[in-house]
Amino acid sequence: MRHLRPLRRCLCLTAAFFFAAQPVAWAWSGHALCTWDAVGTMPQVVGHSVPAEALTTFLAMEAAALPKVLEEEEQWARTNVPFYAPRPDSLAFKAADGAEPVALKQAFVHAIRVNEDVPFPLYVQRQPGTVAAAGREMAWSALSILKDAGDIDQKRMERVEEGEALSVADVIATATDEPDFGLDIGLFQDNGQKQGALYNFGPQPFGNPLLDYGSQAPFHMGFYHEAGILYKAAPFLQHTYPEARVHLYMTLSRFAFAQGHPYWGWRFAGWAAHYVQDMAQPYHARVLPGVGTVSMLWTSVLDKVGVHGPRIAALNRVTNRHTALENYQKNRMTAALAQGDKDDPLVAALRDTSGDATVQRLQPTTLRDVSSVQSVAAADALDAQVERSFPARYVSDAATNLDGKDADLYALSRQAPAAEQAKLAGLVADRMRQAGRDTRAVIRAVAPDGTEAAQR
Ligand SMILES: [Zn+2]
Repeated sequence: MRHLRPLRRCLCLTAAFFFAAQPVAWAWSGHALCTWDAVGTMPQVVGHSVPAEALTTFLAMEAAALPKVLEEEEQWARTNVPFYAPRPDSLAFKAADGAEPVALKQAFVHAIRVNEDVPFPLYVQRQPGTVAAAGREMAWSALSILKDAGDIDQKRMERVEEGEALSVADVIATATDEPDFGLDIGLFQDNGQKQGALYNFGPQPFGNPLLDYGSQAPFHMGFYHEAGILYKAAPFLQHTYPEARVHLYMTLSRFAFAQGHPYWGWRFAGWAAHYVQDMAQPYHARVLPGVGTVSMLWTSVLDKVGVHGPRIAALNRVTNRHTALENYQKNRMTAALAQGDKDDPLVAALRDTSGDATVQRLQPTTLRDVSSVQSVAAADALDAQVERSFPARYVSDAATNLDGKDADLYALSRQAPAAEQAKLAGLVADRMRQAGRDTRAVIRAVAPDGTEAAQR
């Protein structure tokens, strides 16, 4: 830092402070809600089922073949992902790691650098309106390392046995929620968790390193299209990993299919789809939707000289609007699916394939050059609409800390004039349209057969 000019250093430090408290990283609350309708009519998916397979079974059978594919993936990431933190060579997966299931699983999670305590159980998420079969309910602790299940409906999580036939749509949809269940938590060296010392991701680039959930933000957000001066002031905003995650899980998906493990082919595909769905959420693609770069930097300068109000207000506002939008999406879609209302604009948009020709198969550049560009373009209008659609207390009042658990923002949005309700639904439906299109693009890119895959 010593070589930086005083102003730049000031901006850098204050920008770090500015973003330090941003805790939210759920993105769409309930990715499975975004997935069932997105993939529900795809020929690769509809009517197909696959036998559930334990992770350790898959790893034991493929221990000899995995080192090569994972090494090639690492080399791809080092070459292609900007600001990628290389995986230490000592963590490379080796065939000899395959002696015991516990050691095998640990070697694999170390090689792909995810939280080593995630249990990876066999389970499916049932659709809203249904619950797990009696006697097959899942304890939250068997699913996730997170102590708090938040607003996740645990009653719909159902344990399954190895070898049991599962619908492909359910496997993919269930998997799209998993990256929010702890995979990317505690990976930085200052998170106070054991794997953080091993993984070489360095200190957490933004977000509060001591907030459990906030530590996954740099894996689920990608600020690819901010102004150059913002990157100069806050270079750490570029240290994000969704591109690396999507590519890794798509590689593992193709590998699993090729080696005869269709369950893991679809489950890894669902993990990849999570991050492309996140990128459809403008609060994951822009640092501060609705706030210009000059205003953002000026707010940081003011904060540095002791005028903290504007920074706190901006931070609370973005956090609350982010939370409000996700709360609205989750409650609206949960209600629609529970009632079988397939015409709800958000649900219907997921099935809209009119834009699929533009992104047939997800490419390594799609996330940055297409998905986030469209999300960024939608950010300011959506942010302004969020402000108009909910009571000011939830989206404009700097004194409010909206944790999203108690309020039903969908119900509250219906207090707004009908025209504002329709505009909000339309803008969120546009985001769902993108999420649906990109989810299908992941599926087509990894699917093992069918004419589309044959053209790959
Ligand atoms: Zn996410």
